[in-house]
Amino acid sequence: MYLKKTLISLILIMLINQLCFAAETPDPLRQVLSITDEQIIAQAWLAQLRRSGSLSDDPVSTDYLNKLGLRLAGGNIDGFSPKFHLINNNQVNAFAFMGANIAINSGLIKLTESESELASVIAHEIAHLKQKHFLRQIHEQRKMMPMTIAGTLAAMLIGRPDLMIPVLGVGTQHSINFTREHEKEADRIGIKILIEADFDPQGMPDFFKRMSQNSIYNSRPPDYLLTHPWYESRIADSTQTAKAIKYKQYANKLDFELIKTRLELKDLIDINFYIKKIKNKIKQKKYKSEDVAKYKLGYALLCAQEYKAALATLATLSKEAQDNFIVKLTVIEINMQINTKLAQEQLNALQQFYPNNQALNLYLIENLINLNQNLPAFELSLNYAKQFPDDAKSYLLLRQTAARLDKRSYIHYANAYWLLLHADLEAALQETNTAESLAVNADTAHKQQIAELKSAINAIQPLVANE
Ligand SMILES: [Zn+2]
Repeated sequence: MYLKKTLISLILIMLINQLCFAAETPDPLRQVLSITDEQIIAQAWLAQLRRSGSLSDDPVSTDYLNKLGLRLAGGNIDGFSPKFHLINNNQVNAFAFMGANIAINSGLIKLTESESELASVIAHEIAHLKQKHFLRQIHEQRKMMPMTIAGTLAAMLIGRPDLMIPVLGVGTQHSINFTREHEKEADRIGIKILIEADFDPQGMPDFFKRMSQNSIYNSRPPDYLLTHPWYESRIADSTQTAKAIKYKQYANKLDFELIKTRLELKDLIDINFYIKKIKNKIKQKKYKSEDVAKYKLGYALLCAQEYKAALATLATLSKEAQDNFIVKLTVIEINMQINTKLAQEQLNALQQFYPNNQALNLYLIENLINLNQNLPAFELSLNYAKQFPDDAKSYLLLRQTAARLDKRSYIHYANAYWLLLHADLEAALQETNTAESLAVNADTAHKQQIAELKSAINAIQPLVANE
């Protein structure tokens, strides 16, 4: 209890400080929450998401979602670089969070039938962020009950979502309950975002209709409808806007279909039954796209660990589909299981064209580890961690390669970083100290890394310090 009180007073001081410096802040909404504090809250929230274990471990799908989201966002939002998180959860839901974070449940993607439908949901969430609905909401709430906000922030910072008072409504599954006005605004701006990024605006009413139809067959409506009520009027509004746009043919993207396939098959219980079914469909030519049907079969065979049959199936895709980045990565995923040397050649060749791709770089490290090429794997994982500091997996790989090379200070450094990303500050600090003591004779770059990590932990420490 004492801990909670200390935090509340700390945060109150934080908020009061901001009011005192209000004159220097150009954006009046920033008086309620500075960029730095928003960043800390966002990090705490992300740590919760990592701890919950619900983040997808498929780098290919996550990569796709981020590309799609960045195309819609078109750049930074309120000073933050937007990030899109894929959550393994069959509930139909999506939500935005502070620090320009957007989370999409796999269940929502599975329900969409076109990339424009998925894009419409993301565009709506981006609009909430662009219109600063969080700040506006806090601004409003603060007038009435500043304590409640402080208590909520405190609960987030100490990583106790159960203590969170539902003002901000942050769980991993519930977004803030925006007002009806905010929802309408997010729809209006969202459809603009959709059109500007060259997606079909009809995707928005189409997906609303699909969700409401879907809820008829379930005992409870999708979470997304619970946090986004009034959809009847929103179907009408968005249909009208979409109709006003000149008719244009929008091709359904192969990437979207491939990612949907991966999500659908990932946790399928009876994969062999599915394989039989899809084989029959291909035989009878019962499909919209031959390439998609064959990818479904190929990926199902990969899930069933029938690697050679999976490769043979993917080799029958059209030339165009075989050149698709996701198909190429899928072939590599299979070869990583049965022919690591060939996988390495394919990874190197593909990396020439996509040097900064997250999924590709991750596979490169994993495959080098499989090939026992520990030094290049170690160096790549150091680079990867620098390039994608939010991906906790990179520190697991760094630890693994450091252990093989007996680089002990790096093992503890990787442990410390991983713990920091999971909001276990005390253990993170301990590991950093161990790394520091082992790095006496290390190069300056590594010493610098440890020092930076230590100061990052120390910066958050007072906010979560026990007494
Ligand atoms: Zn909304």
